[in-house]
Amino acid sequence: DIPNNSCIVIFGASGDLTHRKLIPALYHLFANQGLPESFAILGVSRTHFTDQEFRDKLLGILRETETVDENTLSAFANHLYYQGLNTSDVEQYAQLKARLDLLQDHHQTEGNTLFYLATPPSLYGVIPECLAAHGLNTEENGWKRLVVEKPFGYDLASAEALDAKIHQHFNEQQIYRIDHYLGKETVQNLLVFRFANGMFEPLWNRNFIDYIEITAAESLGVEERGGYYDGAGAVRDMLQNHLLQVLAMVSMEPPSAINANSMRDEVYKVLRSLKPLSEHDLKRNLVLGQYTESQVRGQNLPAYRAEHGVADDSRVETYVGLKMEVNNWRWNGVPFYVRTGKRLPTRVTEVVIHFKKTPHPVFGADAPENKLVIRIQPDEGILMSFGLKKPGAGFTAEQVSMDFHYKELSETTMLSAYERLLLDAMNGDATLFARSDAVHACWDFVQPILDFKERPQSLYGYAAGTWGPIEAEQMLARSERQWRYPCKNLTDTEY
Ligand code: NAP
Repeated sequence: DIPNNSCIVIFGASGDLTHRKLIPALYHLFANQGLPESFAILGVSRTHFTDQEFRDKLLGILRETETVDENTLSAFANHLYYQGLNTSDVEQYAQLKARLDLLQDHHQTEGNTLFYLATPPSLYGVIPECLAAHGLNTEENGWKRLVVEKPFGYDLASAEALDAKIHQHFNEQQIYRIDHYLGKETVQNLLVFRFANGMFEPLWNRNFIDYIEITAAESLGVEERGGYYDGAGAVRDMLQNHLLQVLAMVSMEPPSAINANSMRDEVYKVLRSLKPLSEHDLKRNLVLGQYTESQVRGQNLPAYRAEHGVADDSRVETYVGLKMEVNNWRWNGVPFYVRTGKRLPTRVTEVVIHFKKTPHPVFGADAPENKLVIRIQPDEGILMSFGLKKPGAGFTAEQVSMDFHYKELSETTMLSAYERLLLDAMNGDATLFARSDAVHACWDFVQPILDFKERPQSLYGYAAGTWGPIEAEQMLARSERQWRYPCKNLTDTEY
């Protein structure tokens, strides 16, 4: 749907997220006629820019990073404005309000305003308070919505405090907590795949599924974001939000309808069913790792501790592997193995469903596995593997696969996650945004890991370019299972 005329106010407009994700997403939406007939984008941050300087800067970035059409680009530029503002000074928001009134007249935005918080998280509570002090939270004159970037809190207590603070001024229906994983086409496809096909859902339970893997691997290290990452780590950065959301999509019950309430009710229900981690789980079913220096194809990869912005004696995890269980009727006894890490051999996010073996191995003990691989990124698609008869004499079963790649659908133009989510927020559709109760359930689940992390002996090393600590393999091997390795360790000499 094309949203109503509105103004998008981006706090943190001079920052990396705005340049790399938000402005390109808005440009592509504009170029594909996805934005309203009349709209304004108002960048806000402390750095001084005139409107023209701001336009020139963003256009320069778009020309460098995107495929652009010059006419479309100059039409897009006419919608860009900038307001310098000390984000934590409430008095200065009077200037913001005056600017919004002018833009409302000029672009007929009818007061509809999306406030996007792309600032340091310390301001996520401050900005709503300052907006409210100038009446910019009330919906008497057009809707007012708040998009809040990750991280939403640092732990359970700070997430609860932040929520309480924002709720003083904005109600839950106005708050859009972004988890860009939910904006990915293939994450949403998990729902369509499960609930639009009669042939998979009957198998989607403890009777037919042996175990499930969820992997989010990155081949890069922390790059320029060492300072931020060293204060966060893989559990906060990836597990608490993205991976638990994906797990919810894989394991939730069918919603009665695809709308914000029904969907998020089911997500919350399954997140509340996660088996709390016991002391035994923390010691046996959790592996925290940190990458160490190594050589990959003649190239020296530095240790995490040698990265820019990282403390020399940092004990922050760049890898987490975890066995989880969902305590409900559908999933009783099915382990969910979840792992994420930096400096792994490849960049891939995928869900692997391992089906149980046949009750009696008529074609031999190593009969093929039935496996479904749902690739979330890159090369989005679905791979199903099963056994067929090997041609020739006898009855030998061999593994074959059916492999669907989204890119083969030539007609498809996939919206980027930020395009989809910006559009949804402008349309008032919160289905793909995290609700307050779910965010709390996630923090509640990971809090014991955050506490455990503080203990001295909990971190294992792994060479950069490998699939993480050996202990993560052993965790699955104990029950005769194994991770899927989409490609080998890059440090293996024969590779
Ligand atoms: P960044 O490059 O450091 O930008 C921060 C922005 O906030 C700047 O525009 C800065 O502009 C503004 N700002 C306002 N008040 C500030 C203050 N008191 N101190 C420092 N900066 C202030 O950060 P970013 O990478 O764009 O990230 C923004 C937010 O999005 C963060 O919370 C981050 O966790 C989240 N996020 C980022 C990414 C990403 O890929 N970058 C991905 C997911 C989530 P002025 O200095 O001009 O005021």
